[in-house]
Amino acid sequence: MRIKVANQARCIGCYSCMMACARTYYSTISLKNSAIDIQTSGGIESAYVSVVCHACIDPPCSRACPTGALVKRNGGGVELKTDLCTGCEQCADACLVGAIHMDGNAKAIVCRHCGICTSFCPHEVLEMRKVPSADTTHAETSHKEVK
Ligand code: SF4
Ligand code: SF4
Repeated sequence: MRIKVANQARCIGCYSCMMACARTYYSTISLKNSAIDIQTSGGIESAYVSVVCHACIDPPCSRACPTGALVKRNGGGVELKTDLCTGCEQCADACLVGAIHMDGNAKAIVCRHCGICTSFCPHEVLEMRKVPSADTTHAETSHKEVK
């Protein structure tokens, strides 16, 4: 199972998903600590874009990590071995969709595909879906350019 952006056009930028993620894993609602990122594509009057890990089957982020801190997750994507992360940001550079950023302790924040964000989205923008392996790596358009 992985998080899927199912209805992007319905996003109103309420950041409920980001707050749910940050609250769950960092006990804070600071948006900087969310694994999912809601961005505007060109100013406040433009559409919102959900930047979320695509759960790659052969994750570039994992291959780029020099310390082995990102291990492949069952079903795609990665899990972080926090103790091994040195904060070098090579994973963030390698991710094709810009889904990784650093937390306040210079540790990578990676999506766990737990689905907590989907349960707090009031407009069903996000869904948990079982996606065939072959579909995951390039399932959505890259959003890295909007950062
Ligand atoms: S490269 Fe990016 S999209 Fe792929 S598993 Fe890593 S964080 Fe997720
Ligand atoms: S920031 Fe951490 S997880 Fe990312 S490549 Fe560097 S050591 Fe690996």
